[in-house]
Amino acid sequence: MKAHAYAVQSASSHFAPFSFEQRELGPHDVAIDIAYCGVCHSDVHQARNEWGGSIFPMVPGHEIVGHVSAVGTAVTRYHSGDRVGVGCLVDSCRVCENCRAGDEQFCLQTPTFTYNSTQKDGSVTYGGYADRIIVNEDFVLSVPTNLDLAAAAPLLCAGITTYSPLRHWRVGPNQRVGIIGLGGLGHMALKFAHAFGAHVVQFTTSEKKAEDAKRLGADEVVLSNDDRAMAAQSNSFDFLLDTVSAPHDLNRFLALLRRNGTMTLVGVPDTPPTVAAASLIFRRGSLAGSLIGGIAETQEMLDFCGEHRITSEIELIPIQHLDTAFDRMVKSDVRYRFVIDSASLH
Ligand code: NAP
Ligand code: ZN
Repeated sequence: MKAHAYAVQSASSHFAPFSFEQRELGPHDVAIDIAYCGVCHSDVHQARNEWGGSIFPMVPGHEIVGHVSAVGTAVTRYHSGDRVGVGCLVDSCRVCENCRAGDEQFCLQTPTFTYNSTQKDGSVTYGGYADRIIVNEDFVLSVPTNLDLAAAAPLLCAGITTYSPLRHWRVGPNQRVGIIGLGGLGHMALKFAHAFGAHVVQFTTSEKKAEDAKRLGADEVVLSNDDRAMAAQSNSFDFLLDTVSAPHDLNRFLALLRRNGTMTLVGVPDTPPTVAAASLIFRRGSLAGSLIGGIAETQEMLDFCGEHRITSEIELIPIQHLDTAFDRMVKSDVRYRFVIDSASLH
């Protein structure tokens, strides 16, 4: 069947309508009618080839939610009409030690990403800025029925990317935790860290977001470009999560870690940072990184969101507004995730 989508033809082109023939439904495949798709800053980095190696034409989108329209003959877990989601991964080798540990995102054969990725048969994947997608059942998630579907879309990337490191580094009560950057990832990190019982400090460069940060669960808000406000936070954090999308000085934040504290990067600016050894050695600090999360953990996160009624703060847009949404994200003018209403494709 033909899928209707929006694509960019090069790193400098605008989005335009694009259609492509989907693969035949295999025995283990699930066909999904896409209802909504979140717009992640990684879509901007890749569509504009900021990380290099982009494949064009590109249909981005890895925060996909919708309904099952058909299933392959061997699929038993999903049925027509089910509310499902697809995140950043659509396949992996399943046999390497990382896949077997449930960390398919670190597949040693390289996982197949939802878009801008080459599959085993040599074809290129197209993502969720489209009306439909076919995905192997092992990479399809169930979306809790009590969550607003559009506001649940960003959980598939922004949600798991922040939930996973907060769980891995055991963020919880009696900890002082800082979230750096209040965008798509940042506001989900804030909600999760608050739900896990930590004392949460939100760092932002946007003064006008301070009130929202409090409403979303921040115990304190610090303007990260204010030197005095930053100095007052020195040596006080157990854990920092850096979600910033543009180059910035990490040493400024490492100085805020307590003895044995960890700062984990999830943001991927296009130039590598400079880290002074002293920023780490004078506190026995750790600098770490984290990539999305495995499939089982993504389902765990969705179920947690169902139980705790956690979704994203979204601005719903027609797909024709993608270029403006990208420009606004780059200017940090996002509250706090753009989500495409896929009905606008027809
Ligand atoms: P986003 O919604 O655009 O938010 C990024 C936020 O970073 C902005 O809203 C802004 O927050 C802050 N920021 C931007 N430029 C800044 C600068 N020059 N200095 C300081 N702060 C700045 O982006 P996102 O979708 O959350 O994604 C964030 C990053 O994570 C991107 O690089 C993306 O590629 C990456 N990512 C990584 C993974 C992973 O698995 N590791 C997964 C998804 C995305 P304030 O206005 O509050 O300052
Ligand atoms: Zn993403």
